[in-house]
Amino acid sequence: MKKILAAVICVAVIICVATLSGRGMYTRTEYMLDTVITITADNKKAVSECFDEIKRIEKLFSVHISDSETSKINSAPHGAPVAVSREVFDLLEKACEYKTKTDGAFDITVKPLVDLWNVSGGGYVPDTEEISEAVSLVGDIILDKDNLTVTLPRKGMQIDLGGIAKGYAGDRVRDVLLQNGVTSAMADLGGNIVTLGKKDGKPWKIGLQSPDKGRGEAFATVEAEDTCVVTSGGYERNFVHNGKTYHHIIDPRTGTNPDNDVLSVTVISPDGALADALSTACFVLGRERGEECAKSLGADIVTYTKNGVFTTDTAKTNIFDNVK
Ligand code: AMP
Ligand code: MG
Repeated sequence: MKKILAAVICVAVIICVATLSGRGMYTRTEYMLDTVITITADNKKAVSECFDEIKRIEKLFSVHISDSETSKINSAPHGAPVAVSREVFDLLEKACEYKTKTDGAFDITVKPLVDLWNVSGGGYVPDTEEISEAVSLVGDIILDKDNLTVTLPRKGMQIDLGGIAKGYAGDRVRDVLLQNGVTSAMADLGGNIVTLGKKDGKPWKIGLQSPDKGRGEAFATVEAEDTCVVTSGGYERNFVHNGKTYHHIIDPRTGTNPDNDVLSVTVISPDGALADALSTACFVLGRERGEECAKSLGADIVTYTKNGVFTTDTAKTNIFDNVK
C-alpha cells in the first residue's frame, strides 16, 4: 500500500514538475531516502548520476537497510567499537557538533524515542514511564578519530540520521551537478531544496508550504541561488489520538513533541546538512532560541508560528499578504 501511494505521488509530482521545468531542463523523480526526490537540471546524465549518488548514501545511512553502516552501529553490542567509513564518521562528528550547538535539541540518539512513538508505523502514545525510560537512552556516542570507530556506550542506545541525511545527500547531489558542469539546477529531497545558479536569469523562487493548508499551498516564497532551503514541520508525518495530533519531531530532552507555538521552520544555508539539522533543532527550540541558534551558525530562518511568521533580516523572503 505504501509503495502504491509512493508511486502515485511520484507520478503526480513528475506531471507537476515536468510542466514547471523550463526549456532544456530535464526532470526526474524517484522515491528514495523514505521520501519523494525530484531533480531538475539541464543535463540528463548529471541527473542520473545524482540518483546513483543518493542510492549510495541511502545504503550507508538508512536504518531500514540491515547492512548499512548505521544499522551495523545500532546492532553492535553496547560498548563495542564499530569501524565505519571516513564519510560516515565525518557526518556523525558533524551531528555531535550540532547537538552541542543546539543545546541538545538536535540529537541523533533520539532513535529509541522515535521507535517508541512509532509515527511512521501508525503511532503510539506512550505513558510517562515508557517516555522516561527511552529518554534515559539519549546520550553521547563515542567517536574515535584515530581508529575511525563509533561506540554506543549504553544498552539500548541507537542512532537515527533521519534529521540530517537528506540535507547531507543534497550537498552530495550539488557536488555531482558541479562535477558535470551544471550551472542551473534544483533538487527537492523531501522538503530539502538545493539550488544551483539561477533559473532563466533570476534566483530560484522556492514556495514554503503552509503548515495548516493543503499540499502545494505556500505562505511565502524564498529567493534562492546556490543555497539550500530546508523545512521541518509537524504537518509532514503525524497521527491523531483522542483528538490530539502527534508528529515525528521529538524533543530528545523531554521525549515528547516540543511544547511551543512553532508549526514549521525553514532554514536557508549553503550547507545542506547544517540546514537540515538546524531546521529540526529550531523546531524543537521554539522561535526565539531557534533564531539565535540559526544566526550564530550563519544561517537564515523563517519560523511559522501560531502567532505569526518571523524571518531573519537577510532571508530574501516574500511573505504573502494573507499571512498574519
Ligand atoms: P526533519 O524532517 O529533518 O525535521 O527530521 C525528522 C526526523 O529526524 C524524524 O523522522 C526522526 O527520524 C528524526 N528526529 C526526530 N526528532 C529529532 C531530533 N530532535 N533530533 C534529531 N533527529 C530527530
Ligand atoms: Mg532536519
